[in-house]
Amino acid sequence: MPYDTVLTNARLADGRAGAFIAIEVGRIVGIGADTPPPAATTIDLAGDLVLPGLTDGHMHLDKTLFGLPWWPHAAEPYRMSRIETDARVLPALPLGTAERAGELIRRCVAHGTAQIRTHADIRPEFGLAALEGVLAAKAAHAHACTVQVVAFPQAGVMRVPGTAALLDDAMRAGADLVGGIDPCEIDRDPKGQLDAIFAIAERHGKGVDIHLHEPAEMGLFSLQEICARVRAHGMQGQVTISHGFCLGGVAESRQKAAAAMMADAGVSLVTHGAGGATLPPLGVLREAGVQVFCGNDDVRDTWSPYGTADMLERAAIIDWRIDWRTDPLLHDLFDMVSGDGARALGIPEHGIDAGKPATLFTLPAETIPEAIGQHPRRRLVLFAGRVVARDGAWVA
Ligand SMILES: [Zn+2]
Repeated sequence: MPYDTVLTNARLADGRAGAFIAIEVGRIVGIGADTPPPAATTIDLAGDLVLPGLTDGHMHLDKTLFGLPWWPHAAEPYRMSRIETDARVLPALPLGTAERAGELIRRCVAHGTAQIRTHADIRPEFGLAALEGVLAAKAAHAHACTVQVVAFPQAGVMRVPGTAALLDDAMRAGADLVGGIDPCEIDRDPKGQLDAIFAIAERHGKGVDIHLHEPAEMGLFSLQEICARVRAHGMQGQVTISHGFCLGGVAESRQKAAAAMMADAGVSLVTHGAGGATLPPLGVLREAGVQVFCGNDDVRDTWSPYGTADMLERAAIIDWRIDWRTDPLLHDLFDMVSGDGARALGIPEHGIDAGKPATLFTLPAETIPEAIGQHPRRRLVLFAGRVVARDGAWVA
């Protein structure tokens, strides 16, 4: 019996060239260097490098302006103006959340992204509308990408009455994690917000992902409060800090102590590496055993005109920022945008190995460092054995 699909003339990340990858019922069943076995479909990769699907660990699918004509940035250059602008602009857009989110998911997939964690704004002005739009886009693309949705209180929890109850509703409506944001700076009530969101997470048996933009000592205080609650609720491995700018704003001894505290509590960190803020010390965190992964954050949306949704381009941006240049460091960075991200999202099966899902992409590069440095167009993208993008474009 021929296999479903065999990819031939593949270059593998370990340097092997001219290999074949046999795929059956969505999974890799064999990798070899001899004569390729017969298959219903044979695809010649012409020497392209084959890499496992990318992870975009921090997205805002509901805020994107993809699908619309160019939309000039409308907010003032500070966070509260962007939060207020969202309430005015997003509900009035001539294209709904599901359509815009779908546009962005298809761009992610075309760049080889296989799993996305997105936030969806939960605030009284929107009710659950943004979440419902994102969940509709997730369902429509389930054959091409795994999407995890965080119920995200963008405007705060305690300062906006009714938000905690809406977060609870959002978890019942299908959100995968409970979100939070700057418990000191935005809510000015860290105990109130953190007690509320951890109680909701515990009630629904779900994880937590908290936006933490707070600076230096203020952010570190919030981080300590978060880690204390992780231990008290037994939620090790289920909690993520998004951004964690505070970690880049304190002395090295304090960074190391915070990294050890996060590793002990099993709290991971997701970074997008950009912005004017202090970047957390990614190497220090990884060395301490913290799961560090990456995301694009805002992509051509109401918060930012930048971004292409390409996680290899994002890896290059992060590299520039942290000045990692050697091959071993670029391999570490690739782990952060692929396998480490997948594990942080609770997706254990990842990699180009027999038995794993055939979720991969190909591109004209010799090595992983070259793939990051040049991030050329993805030639072929497979999700669970199915071709979902070709030559940088979504395949319907
Ligand atoms: Zn964000």
